[in-house]
Amino acid sequence: MNCLAIVYSEKNIEEINKINEFCRYENFSVDYYLSELDFKKYFDFILKNNISKVLLTDANVLDSDLTSFTEKIISLHKNNVSVLCASYDFPDPFQLAIRTLNMGGKDPGRINRIKDSINKKASRGQVLGKIPYGYKKNSSGFFVENDFQSKNVKKIFSLYNQNFSISEITRELQNTLLEEKWSNQKVKHILENDFYTGIYRRYSVVIPNSHIPIINKIDFDNAKKKLDTNNKRSYRKNYWNKFLFCGFCSNKLSVTNHKNSWISNGKIKRKNYKYYVCNHKKSDLEFSEILKIKYEKLNSLLEENINKELILEKKFEDSYVYKLISQLSNSKIFFEDFIEKFQNYKKASLQKKDMIEKIFVKQIDNQIFLSSP
Ligand SMILES: [Zn+2]
Repeated sequence: MNCLAIVYSEKNIEEINKINEFCRYENFSVDYYLSELDFKKYFDFILKNNISKVLLTDANVLDSDLTSFTEKIISLHKNNVSVLCASYDFPDPFQLAIRTLNMGGKDPGRINRIKDSINKKASRGQVLGKIPYGYKKNSSGFFVENDFQSKNVKKIFSLYNQNFSISEITRELQNTLLEEKWSNQKVKHILENDFYTGIYRRYSVVIPNSHIPIINKIDFDNAKKKLDTNNKRSYRKNYWNKFLFCGFCSNKLSVTNHKNSWISNGKIKRKNYKYYVCNHKKSDLEFSEILKIKYEKLNSLLEENINKELILEKKFEDSYVYKLISQLSNSKIFFEDFIEKFQNYKKASLQKKDMIEKIFVKQIDNQIFLSSP
């Protein structure tokens, strides 16, 4: 297992000294120095020479653009190569990159504002040392149970696994813990965080049994299973909704519920009817008829006729990569999720031109017409 240092110049004594000093501090040594090659050549060298660790002078030495820098780190990670920057404050490549790299040609003003707010958070210590709810740090810097808070963490998992909904749990906590602020988001975040099972994650580093668990693995896994099912359910329910627009006036279609009741054999019967509708209200044009299509009917027509792979699931903002790396820095997402989200972003930005963003729906003489520009 060898270590490669990627530097600006192997002949710059000052730079090489800085690298070696950092290595002494981190207790490892460099076997090879390389500079000014394209990434493909670095990559071939890494594979050929059994390199397991890459040290960078700074983030910029690998790439000056944040998106392509991220791509390179991910491809190294996939080959089990860990990357470190020779920075005492931010040795993690993403932590350094988000502070120093730009994102090519995309509204730098906005991105800098986001960068500033991330830097402020970092200087307040929120990024680097955020302690999860339920724990505190003891005088030696280790995570130990915060007895008052950990009771609430246990309560959240216990209620959720007894089929209470997240909003019911939030209400319960809000009513009993007046001194603390609770939100559905906070409860969900706790249910998703496997720190409570004793696992410590930081970027690509995963350390099991790093601290005393508050929640046992079985309870955590049960909660996770329920979370996944609920996420999927709401995903399925709303899948088409956000893509549908009126083919006459271009307004977004809304969904309405109609309750009907009637008496049959002396008993009251009730039935719900759901419709996609547009009354063309926001439009200047006047139509004699509103658009009204049965929910299930349009859904099954869409399922038959629209290839879901061509649907642009999400429109990405210019600053998306910054936000993603910031979430990673805040330990809000796992490294595996980060890779998946980043690759979805890459896929969408490559295919953007051919993807379907909107589906327009018309109904003429009971015949439905779908179109996507
Ligand atoms: Zn309309």
